[in-house]
Amino acid sequence: MAELLDGKAIAAALRARVAARVGDFVARTGRRPGLDVVLAGDDAASQVYVRNKARACEEAGMRGAVHRLPATVTQQELLARVGELGARDDVDGVLVQLPLPKHIDESAVLEAVDPGRDVDGFHPYNAGALLAGRPTLVPCTPLGCMRMLEHAKVSLDGARAVVIGRSNIVGKPMALLLLAQNATVTVAHSRTRDLAARCAEADVLVAAVGRAGLVRGDWVKPGAVVIDVGINRTAEGKLTGDVNFDEAREKASWITPVPGGVGPMTIACLLENTLRAAWRRAGLPMGELGL
Ligand code: NDP
Repeated sequence: MAELLDGKAIAAALRARVAARVGDFVARTGRRPGLDVVLAGDDAASQVYVRNKARACEEAGMRGAVHRLPATVTQQELLARVGELGARDDVDGVLVQLPLPKHIDESAVLEAVDPGRDVDGFHPYNAGALLAGRPTLVPCTPLGCMRMLEHAKVSLDGARAVVIGRSNIVGKPMALLLLAQNATVTVAHSRTRDLAARCAEADVLVAAVGRAGLVRGDWVKPGAVVIDVGINRTAEGKLTGDVNFDEAREKASWITPVPGGVGPMTIACLLENTLRAAWRRAGLPMGELGL
């Protein structure tokens, strides 16, 4: 039976470390790190996410603000707001909540975020830096997965890793982070042939798909570490992952639950990224951040 990778507990510990370092930042610079979240439209889930992000910042001693724009906002207005935030001295992190209204060019908006304040790590500059092996601001969800693997002291050197999903937000950066730790990485997707057999080779299996229970117990190699990024809602309204948890936990050595796994880590890593961006912008030595 697998041990549980308790994202709630690991995230709480990371948030406490961030809060302590925020105290140090304030003492050294005389100001709080600040995150500004831009929300365009009235998507109900996004409303909850942005509120939680701002609240988490405040709880860690940082400034967290939400800028709400109507669903009818024009591309130009949205770009102008993102540009304004990127020019303010007290703004360390700028996050544009996705999805954006359909008439907005998402890539253009993400490219308008100042790369030094791009705490989601979605700007092509930061994506390129990760690809080049010089990561600066790394997307929060894959970063959270890596923090969990660190917590479980999983040895990635030479390990076989399979990532299911190739989005720019999760799958691709996850694969690059695993590669940077010397894992042998396979990226699977909707066109992958014989997905079950590919997964069964994995010492580390990361599912980032958005299909409830896709990964069955017999896809899991005995002793594998299983990270379930998926968030799906069942017909009864319950949250569930991409992995059939009850089956997979019989085979794995470590497994993340949904909820209470990757989700809390994503928010904790957003706080880490905001502090990291503030630290760099303030010209403090990165070696002294110590997270
Ligand atoms: P996307 O929809 O952007 O990507 C899904 C990926 O899964 C695609 O690469 C797609 O392949 C692949 N895929 C779809 N169906 C299959 C299949 N049957 N077999 C194999 N691969 C398949 O999603 P995201 O990456 O944004 O998110 C993935 C999941 O993670 C979602 O459930 C999302 O809610 C969750 N999530 C959770 C977060 C957290 O904090 N816990 C944060 C972000 C996301 P193809 O490219 O070929 O279409």
